[in-house]
Amino acid sequence: MSTYLPCPKCGGKIIIKVENYTWWGGIFGNKLFNHVICDKCKFEYNGVTGKSNKVNIIIYNIIVSIIVLGMIALLYRLFL
Ligand SMILES: [Zn+2]
Repeated sequence: MSTYLPCPKCGGKIIIKVENYTWWGGIFGNKLFNHVICDKCKFEYNGVTGKSNKVNIIIYNIIVSIIVLGMIALLYRLFL
């Protein structure tokens, strides 16, 4: 089991790894960004770097949107 940095906001050491589906990253985003939540203040961050995952989440969503739009465009070409 890997260990994560203590909460950068409150210094809390009880860190919960986010394994469930999230609105922003689906089932892969959490693992990809080592997304963890502080049990004390509920601050969400990258458990390895100790930084917020906000920028990563935005980039991830842009990439996912492009892929989804690309697939829609492809289906549109194939069936219409
Ligand atoms: Zn905290």
